[in-house]
Amino acid sequence: MTEIKKMYNEMGISDEVYDFSKEISESLIQRFQKIDIIAEYNQLKVTRAMQKNQVSEAHFTTTTGYGYNDLGRDTLEKVYADVFHTEDALVRPQITCGTHALSIALSANLRPGDKMVYISGKPYDTLEEVIGIRESRGSLYEYGITYAQVDLLANGEFDFDGIKEAITPDVKLVGIQRSKGYATRPTLSVKKIGQVISFIKSIYPDVIVMVDNCYGEFVETIEPSDVGADMIVGSLIKNPGGGLAPIGGYICGKKECIENCAYRLTTPGLGKEVGANLGVITSFYQGLFLAPTVVASALKGAIFAANLFEKFHFKVIPDGNESRHDIIQAIEFGNPECVVAFCKGIQAAAPVDSHLTPEPWDMPGYDAPVIMAAGAFVSGSSIELSADGPIKPPYAVYFQGGLTWQHAKLGILKAFQNMVDDELITLK
Ligand SMILES: *Cc1c(COP(=O)(O)O)cnc(C)c1O
Repeated sequence: MTEIKKMYNEMGISDEVYDFSKEISESLIQRFQKIDIIAEYNQLKVTRAMQKNQVSEAHFTTTTGYGYNDLGRDTLEKVYADVFHTEDALVRPQITCGTHALSIALSANLRPGDKMVYISGKPYDTLEEVIGIRESRGSLYEYGITYAQVDLLANGEFDFDGIKEAITPDVKLVGIQRSKGYATRPTLSVKKIGQVISFIKSIYPDVIVMVDNCYGEFVETIEPSDVGADMIVGSLIKNPGGGLAPIGGYICGKKECIENCAYRLTTPGLGKEVGANLGVITSFYQGLFLAPTVVASALKGAIFAANLFEKFHFKVIPDGNESRHDIIQAIEFGNPECVVAFCKGIQAAAPVDSHLTPEPWDMPGYDAPVIMAAGAFVSGSSIELSADGPIKPPYAVYFQGGLTWQHAKLGILKAFQNMVDDELITLK
């Protein structure tokens, strides 16, 4: 197709870069077919749940005020519960982000004197203040909830011996983070999460297992709730919002856990009965409907990038052949120039704000300047193509998202082209 090459040319992609990448995308056809089959399965799963609950136009009605009898909201929560095979769900625009959802899940199900243990190593940064690992006002620690942590073994596996030792009878809740987040450990497969949950439940059947499911939804055909998790938690401006949800979070799980969460989100007594949808409800339904294929697109972009940059001997995590359990791709460039060139390329490919140039800046809470690239329809949405890199060794960028594979590809090619133009890498 010469037209497409010409179009890429016009968008700043040289023949050499295009030809080089073409070989890589062609080598990935079979891999992509497998991803499409997972998406097909998950599309059926979501559609069946919507049909079972007889989703209809009446459910797209905006509610305001208290939001009593919000049929759209209540039905959506039934749909989520069916998709994730849980007894109940809380899916709300009043949950402001993933951290908030996790904070609700923890604070709702723990009481003063309880203990929680994270068994997948240090949790995502923002949770440190929620838990009180870093001193913070209003943390769980201030409310007399104690915390312990079991790190993953050096090979990235769960430390079963350490877990057995750490989970004493006073432990009420165990936390597991599925995605690596911004650490360089492998992401945990749902199967591995299932094995460790069975192990824990065989010793203490009553302990609550919560899984931080951020970035993992629809990457596989099963979810942590299919393998014994009592609660799974995530953000709607990541995978399950499908790029359309403008805000929100979800918690799916056992009835009692979700009831506790609802009482914490609103108030004791009111629980799930209040919370108007403010007109975002259609985007929640439609985003969930699109999520399986959007996640597949993001995965294809991540795999394409891994295979491309691996050719230049950069360390890519996961590597080009590894099985995928979340949508994040890390690339260690080893120098700041590559990080900047990469992020500028991602920005230049965006449908929104492509004319802006990202620069490293000293963000509050970080110990090094960070460069961020995002040209998103929903501010901060990381299911849309986005990248960020702290300007410090090992000079890694973390990138994720892409509402369509074709757009993720353009972003990666722009990043690649920038690095070729700046003579940071040479095409043989
Ligand atoms: C993004 C993320 C969070 C926090 O979600 P926010 O929406 O950014 O608050 C928590 N855990 C993991 C693993 C994440 O990827």
